[in-house]
Amino acid sequence: MAERRHLETDVLVIGAGGAGMSAAIAAADGGADVLLADRSLIGRGGATVMAMMTVAVAVGEETPDDWRFHYRDTLTAGRGLCNPKLARLLCEEGPDAIRQMDGWGVGWARRDGHISQAHAPGHDRPRCVYVDFLNTGPAVSKTLRTVLHNRDRVRRIGDLMVIDVVQSGSDPARSAAVAGQGKVTGAVALDLTTGRAVTIAAKTTIIATGGLTRLYSRNSASGNMGGDGYALGLRAGAKLIDMEFVQFFPIGHLAPRMIGMDPIMWDPFRYKLGGRLLNGNMEEFTGRYGTEEGGKYVVTRDNATYAILQEVAAGRGTPHGGAYLSFMHIPVEQLKAAFGPVIDKLTANGIDLTKMPVEVAPIAHYHMGGIAVDEAMATGVSQLLASGEAVGGANGANRLSGNAITEALVFGRQAGRKALDLLGSSAAFDQRDAAAALSLLEATGPSAREVNTAAMLAELQSIMWDDVGPFRTAEGLTRAVERISALDSKLGETPVGSPGAYDMSRLDWFDLRNMLLVARVVTQAALMRTESRGAHQRYDYPGLIDDWTRNQIVSLEGGRLVFTSGPLIPAEVAAA
Ligand SMILES: Cc1cc2nc3c(=O)[nH]c(=O)nc-3n(C[C@H](O)[C@H](O)[C@H](O)COP(=O)(O)OP(=O)(O)OC[C@H]3O[C@@H](n4cnc5c(N)ncnc54)[C@H](O)[C@@H]3O)c2cc1C
Repeated sequence: MAERRHLETDVLVIGAGGAGMSAAIAAADGGADVLLADRSLIGRGGATVMAMMTVAVAVGEETPDDWRFHYRDTLTAGRGLCNPKLARLLCEEGPDAIRQMDGWGVGWARRDGHISQAHAPGHDRPRCVYVDFLNTGPAVSKTLRTVLHNRDRVRRIGDLMVIDVVQSGSDPARSAAVAGQGKVTGAVALDLTTGRAVTIAAKTTIIATGGLTRLYSRNSASGNMGGDGYALGLRAGAKLIDMEFVQFFPIGHLAPRMIGMDPIMWDPFRYKLGGRLLNGNMEEFTGRYGTEEGGKYVVTRDNATYAILQEVAAGRGTPHGGAYLSFMHIPVEQLKAAFGPVIDKLTANGIDLTKMPVEVAPIAHYHMGGIAVDEAMATGVSQLLASGEAVGGANGANRLSGNAITEALVFGRQAGRKALDLLGSSAAFDQRDAAAALSLLEATGPSAREVNTAAMLAELQSIMWDDVGPFRTAEGLTRAVERISALDSKLGETPVGSPGAYDMSRLDWFDLRNMLLVARVVTQAALMRTESRGAHQRYDYPGLIDDWTRNQIVSLEGGRLVFTSGPLIPAEVAAA
């Protein structure tokens, strides 16, 4: 058996994106020793570093603003399902978090001596700060990495994939404890560089593993966003909320082929220049679906996704099955000023915006659902917190653009601070509680030739895209549930191969273990929500139903998913 490593810390932070790094900094600044673990490189693995665009925050530098206006817009976009306490935390603390980043030298773009703020759809005024040009996420990540560099109390370990959190009383030989009823005492992880198991004793653990868009074949994400945190939380006894609400970004790049650029890069230029969204007949079309754009960027993400896919279904799509985005009507000097050095990258890709439109189409982009937490980021499982995109509820049924990075920074910092309050109530780590996860990590299973995990991953992604995508029906969702179950059976109980360094088939097996569980939750939640609201659109239930102004909560009990629907959210709260 491969030798195990054991690590000890006060606070374990799982995931080093914007939320995880913010949590680590806050906990270390409060005097705790922190272990910041990431399955990728620290600060370079998830969505934060990929986010090129904007951060929504009521700093009121462009025009007077107040967090209450931001809060009102967030609740409106959330179509009645936001957890008002989480939404308030995001909006109220956002300005301070953004100014803290400013103080750390992130370099928010400035105009005439003040921070520039762009006007993004769904916001009532210019509210979104950014770092030019297309550099927001990289600058945020770099700033947090630099701050972390000066925090001796934070130990950073990359290539460490957490497999499960460990709870006191989980050893079946000693106790009949049920998941969620013990205290979280740390985690078990896979060292990707060696294939060895690592046990981590931690007084408090924070899940900051980001979202789940890797479940979909068309996505804007990196390969490590398969919803690990949701699966870790569920298996530990935490509850998930609103898992049916996957946000599809309407204007992901489709054609012509473009190398070295983010697929969602067109958005900031729409903020700056408007641009025209046209169907295959070169007609503006969003007005048919409720929002006339008239060359401005005002249509929200869910409405734009709907409008584009409806045009494609009606035979009015572009050659590759999307819509055109055109800046051809904009004078070349204005284009150059807005695109800056990006114009050269486009030229290198053979794209001349003065002469041609590009093709765009919806892609999976962000997850509104996630681990249910309170304002202290507590999951309800003792000593377990969560933050960032791993958390659900703040954005309800639809997220406003720019709210996700604010959420990562604010919720991360909050989790780091609140973890400090829990240090005194920890329980001791006992290797016996880690037995199940350890035996999984150290098991030898069928060969990669017998179980083709790469093919299974691709199959899962196409199931999710075809039947659990932007538009859903009972027939498609039921088919997806059956196909996901079949994949689950095929995966089996034992990882493929045996422990070894950088074994991708074995890693795929662990990924599928989580992805299949999370896919099942998303699909079943979508099947149960018999209405259309925000990012969840059903062809067979096209309207919003007032009685569905409630959250869906899911837990894992004895291997079975148990769904409950939260109480009806009072109208005055839903629309506050
Ligand atoms: C291309 C793109 C552009 C975007 N643009 C914007 C934008 O302009 N504005 C905005 O507000 N939002 C944007 N978003 C959304 C936003 O970036 C994310 O919601 C936010 O950054 C999430 O931060 P996070 O820290 O919660 O997660 P992430 O930044 O995704 O970090 C999660 C980390 O957890 C690690 N991890 C996962 N599982 C494990 C495990 N089992 N063990 C150890 N580590 C693990 C991952 O490797 C990753 O490093 C964008 C997203 C994408 C994909």
